[in-house]
This record gives sequence, C-alpha cells and structure tokens, in this order.
Amino acid sequence: MADPIISGQRCQRCRLVARLCYCQKIKLLTSTTRVTVVMHASERCRSSNTARVLEMALTDCEVLLVGEKDNPFKGIRLQQDEANFVLYPEPSAAALSTEYLKRTISASIRRVHLIVPDGSWTQAKRIVHGNIHLRGIPRVQLAELAPSAYLLRKNGRTGGVCTAEAVAHALGEIEGEQLKNELLHNFTIMRDNVLESHYSRWCTAEESAKHYYLTHKPLVRG
Ligand SMILES: [Zn+2]
Repeated sequence: MADPIISGQRCQRCRLVARLCYCQKIKLLTSTTRVTVVMHASERCRSSNTARVLEMALTDCEVLLVGEKDNPFKGIRLQQDEANFVLYPEPSAAALSTEYLKRTISASIRRVHLIVPDGSWTQAKRIVHGNIHLRGIPRVQLAELAPSAYLLRKNGRTGGVCTAEAVAHALGEIEGEQLKNELLHNFTIMRDNVLESHYSRWCTAEESAKHYYLTHKPLVRG
C-alpha cells in the first residue's frame, strides 16, 4: 500500500489518527472483476465505511458518489464486453454462484462488472430503485450469508453484512476462495483499528476495544 497521507493528526485516506492508521497493512489484490461502488456522499468521510478498504486493496475498484449537492451523479461506465450485475439483497435478485455465472454469461464476455450500492439500508435502497443509471441491470445477491463480523455499526436487518464483506463473498463466487479470504483479512485489519479508535477513550491500551464493544465493560484484571 502507498504511504498514508497524514494531514495534521489524521490520515486522510483511512480517516484515523496517525497512531491507528492501517493503510500500509492493507494488502493490494489483483482481481479480474471490475467493482464500482455507488456510495452515498454522507459515507465518504466516515472512518467506519468499509468500501474504503475495497478501494485501497482492489486494483480495479472505483467509488462514485451520489447525493452531493453541487455535483450531480453522472452515471456508471458500462462496457459491452462485461457482464454487469448490481449486488443487492432483494427477493427478485438471483443467487450469485459459480453455476449462475456459467449459465448467464456468454463466451463474448470478458469479465464481470459488479455494481455495489453503499450507504445505510435506506440509502442503498434509494440508490438501487431511484437511480436511473442502475435500471435494467440484473440484480444478484449472496446465496448464503455468514454472520457479519462488522461490529462497527448496528446492521438494519438480520444476517446483513457490510459492504466489504458482501463484496468479498461475491468475489469469492466469481473468482475463488483465496481472493475472498484476503479481502476479509483486509477488512478485519480495518475493523479492529476503527474499533480501537471508537473505544480507546473508554478502555486502556491493555484492554481490548473489541471486548469493550461486545460487553460495554472493561476487562476484569486478575
Ligand atoms: Zn491511513
């Protein structure tokens, strides 16, 4: 990973204080899939936004903002030799699997282009259903959801995973387990540092921020 951009006390890339900056720990990963994250603008500056770790790691990941006052959304770049899918859990979305991709993608297609709405559940719903640029693009969802390891915000629905986890599982189906596991490892590094940042005011350096989050009690010293 490139050197972090420290401005004042805070890294401008991961948005954490310099002591907790994790940018250089994120492993760069090459994927054949192109990923476009359509992010609500209110997420851009939040250190807990997990699409950031995808943008840092993946060689072909672009983040487009929607909801900016003075900068209307200009659309998504679509290419004829790519199979476009919107990753969004809704009843009519197809279950994303290796078999589904084999069935639906023709030989002339070079690669998958995964479009991922990012924001609160309400914002993501509005992006998927209200944005004309996403209209007509097939929807896919994860077939089986592992329990989320997110911990940074309360999820709005049972079994909901955060954006980084969802993309890791989707790329696991498209490209294989190794890429999925490396993406999840990157995500865990990010999560632990953001947790540390959120809870370091309430627990001492020897105590675990994750423990504090889960119990809201400091560790009992023996
Ligand atoms: Zn950083």
